[in-house]
Amino acid sequence: MSDSKTISLDAFRKKKQKEEAEKPYLGTLVWLYCRVCETIEYTEVVAPHGRTHKCGTIVEEVEVPLDLRAEYTLTQFNLEKINGLLHKNKESRLRKLISKSLDNALMALKQSEENYISRLHLAAGCQIPVYPGSLKDLEKQLPIKEINKLGMLISDFRFEPEKRFLKNKKQ
Ligand SMILES: [Zn+2]
Repeated sequence: MSDSKTISLDAFRKKKQKEEAEKPYLGTLVWLYCRVCETIEYTEVVAPHGRTHKCGTIVEEVEVPLDLRAEYTLTQFNLEKINGLLHKNKESRLRKLISKSLDNALMALKQSEENYISRLHLAAGCQIPVYPGSLKDLEKQLPIKEINKLGMLISDFRFEPEKRFLKNKKQ
């Protein structure tokens, strides 16, 4: 009796660990579009009663439910890639001018990825863990919409956000 209990407890613990490793962190991010300023941006702050842009126009909003953990994992792969490119760029001593402007572009990209990550944590209200595994392991379960020329993974959420508002216009 006690033996089977031990086994089931162990199985229970394993099941819990497995669930923890696979558990999504569901949340919502919002795309905001101001038709007057033609600006598009995202926020983690959901405002069910709408909000006004700095120009005084009511902004158009699209709330997108997503797995914050998947977004975070994917963005973490992007950061690794950017850091790799920055490092590689540092090593190439030729084409100094080109390498300088590429550096700046990569730093800007890095900044935007880091900003996205901090928004994801804010949206979750806690620190999110990444999904365990390599990109190859996770490729199929992550919401990768596109891989751009630099090798950045673009998630469904971040892919062509302006199209979300074109769709709304037709309605
Ligand atoms: Zn505006």
